[in-house]
Amino acid sequence: MTPENLRQRLEFYRDLGVKDLYRRPAAPPPAKIEPALVVPVEMKPIKIDIALPGLAPEGDTLERIRQDMGDCKRCRLHEGRNQLVFGVGDPGTKLVFVGEGPGADEDEQGIPFVGRAGQLLTQMIEGTSAKEGIPLKRADVYICNVVKCRPPKNRTPEPDEMEICGQFLFRQISAIRPKAVCALGSTAAKALLGGKDGVTKLRGKWHKWRDIPLMVTYHPSYLLRPYNQNAKRESWEDLKKVLHFVYD
Ligand code: URA
Repeated sequence: MTPENLRQRLEFYRDLGVKDLYRRPAAPPPAKIEPALVVPVEMKPIKIDIALPGLAPEGDTLERIRQDMGDCKRCRLHEGRNQLVFGVGDPGTKLVFVGEGPGADEDEQGIPFVGRAGQLLTQMIEGTSAKEGIPLKRADVYICNVVKCRPPKNRTPEPDEMEICGQFLFRQISAIRPKAVCALGSTAAKALLGGKDGVTKLRGKWHKWRDIPLMVTYHPSYLLRPYNQNAKRESWEDLKKVLHFVYD
């Protein structure tokens, strides 16, 4: 096994929640066998192919990940969807935004963040970068969600749905290898960072998803509520940090 294979395998176990690895105690030295008892046996090498689910294949691409998802029926969310909403944007981007899951508009169009929250996100990306002197359009970043199918009545995705679909999100980010990821809201933060802390605690600071810097900020839907004006200001601050970090 190469060091790269080992690293990927360890990351896979970590994503499954395995926190501790144990080393077997060293085996006692073998008993001395008298030469007369040793029978020569011809050993043939055995090749065992173990396909670990969720392990990113080498040279993974967004096309291949989409192909692997296929007409996905791995969890109950497929039952109510019109379209699977995979992701949109520049696969060579330096910045990835991750939301929660498609809403009605996204489910209809097959594109993430195209409804009201999406329009606000676009405005935030393009407006903030223009103000900061960074020439950036929505099409220059990559936008996707933790779950790719619309949860019924826009409910929060269940942990098993996030885990199943999360393997594809992880592959998307690994394939793009952006300079930074911006997690929008608590579902994205939970999927990428684990833990129980909410957005208020996590936002505004740099975290890491694997070795990629990750910023958490409020979900645009939360910012659309009229009583969350303070959060709007904070969110703009978070985004400024991300944009300068990635594009300066
Ligand atoms: N909310 C999300 O989290 N994602 C979308 O694509 C749209 C709304």
